[in-house]
Amino acid sequence: MQYRKDKYGRELSVLGFGCMRFTRKGNVLDLDKAESEIMAAYRAGVNYYDTAYIYPGSEVLLGTVLKRNGIREKVNVATKLPQYMVSSLKGAEKTFREELDRLQTDYIDYYLMHMFTDVAQWQRLKDMGILKWIEEKKEAGIIRNIGFSYHGNTENFLKILADYDWDFCQIQYNYLDEHTQAGVKGLKAAAERGIPVIIMEPLRGGKLVGMLPPEARKLMQENGRGWSPAAWAFRWLYDQPEVTVVLSGMNSLEMVAENAATADAARPGDFTEEDRALIARVREMIRKGEKVGCTGCRYCMPCPQGVDIPGIFRCYNAMYTEGKKDGRFQFAQTVGITRRPAFATRCVGCGKCEKHCPQAIPIREKLKEADRSLRPLPYKIGINVARAFMLRKGRSR
Ligand code: SF4
Ligand code: SF4
Repeated sequence: MQYRKDKYGRELSVLGFGCMRFTRKGNVLDLDKAESEIMAAYRAGVNYYDTAYIYPGSEVLLGTVLKRNGIREKVNVATKLPQYMVSSLKGAEKTFREELDRLQTDYIDYYLMHMFTDVAQWQRLKDMGILKWIEEKKEAGIIRNIGFSYHGNTENFLKILADYDWDFCQIQYNYLDEHTQAGVKGLKAAAERGIPVIIMEPLRGGKLVGMLPPEARKLMQENGRGWSPAAWAFRWLYDQPEVTVVLSGMNSLEMVAENAATADAARPGDFTEEDRALIARVREMIRKGEKVGCTGCRYCMPCPQGVDIPGIFRCYNAMYTEGKKDGRFQFAQTVGITRRPAFATRCVGCGKCEKHCPQAIPIREKLKEADRSLRPLPYKIGINVARAFMLRKGRSR
């Protein structure tokens, strides 16, 4: 196992265990199976385990496994405050105590504000007095590192990053998301500030393995490297020194063994020009079914009206390469659930963006088309309800 350092020089395994996708047995998680997978990862050197309050049964399962195998002190536990559910410090405290209880521990190594999509969410927590709460928890050693997980656009990520002395952050990042969400720009900005970056969705929820076009799979198989599609995706990440830990939701012993072997062998700077060219071709093959030839270069940005042009096109394309539901879900997360949603309907047709687009995309026309597909009426309503919940009201915790 390779290790990279956190902000304070502690060693974290480059492979982390994502605890969101344990196998279920009927209505409950299969504890024995998950235990064998967690312990196999532990024996392979994995020392970072990521769960969350809202993953059903996950905190309890992880706490049980760590306790009964006597390894709590030997690993790092990361879990998350469902910030969109709390509206007071009392609520945050109650949730946090419940998490300690579930995890059978009296401290959390890495604690995250869960699923920011907009800097407004962080501002709401600050208005609530969360900074003092965090400082007290850190001084008492109950929270050892404070961070946030993120799913919005690059601009909001950079704002949140710059607004506080974070110990770490967690972003969705993989070779399809190089220029979306926090993206490579966010990754590098965090690294420049000395903030470790934990990567989630390295395989885009399994799509970079399970939904690869046959021609892309063939290209990987026939390549002399002999790497599997999963190994290509992980190695693309490990090649970047700014990446600290890559989380993987491993639910078989074979997966643990394969991912651990990749993490053991991969080094930053391993990728050759040929490797990069192969990933570029695979990306093209995945994107063949796309509706707009947007490369995500962002030369068209910023739009004076705040339209997230590349973000909208990426989700529109995802509807045709990953599935309609997936594209619309990604759209709701990254474009819709923000204080001032970056919808295409804000476009006033000034044409500034089109002058800068190297792909000569008729952006104004394509934005209208994308908006019609991404936001049919039920989704419009759904996004509005989600925004009200995530950004304003919270629950009475
Ligand atoms: S044409 Fe529309 S999307 Fe393009 S810069 Fe102007 S307002 Fe923004
Ligand atoms: S300039 Fe063109 S290709 Fe680049 S992000 Fe904007 S729309 Fe996409």
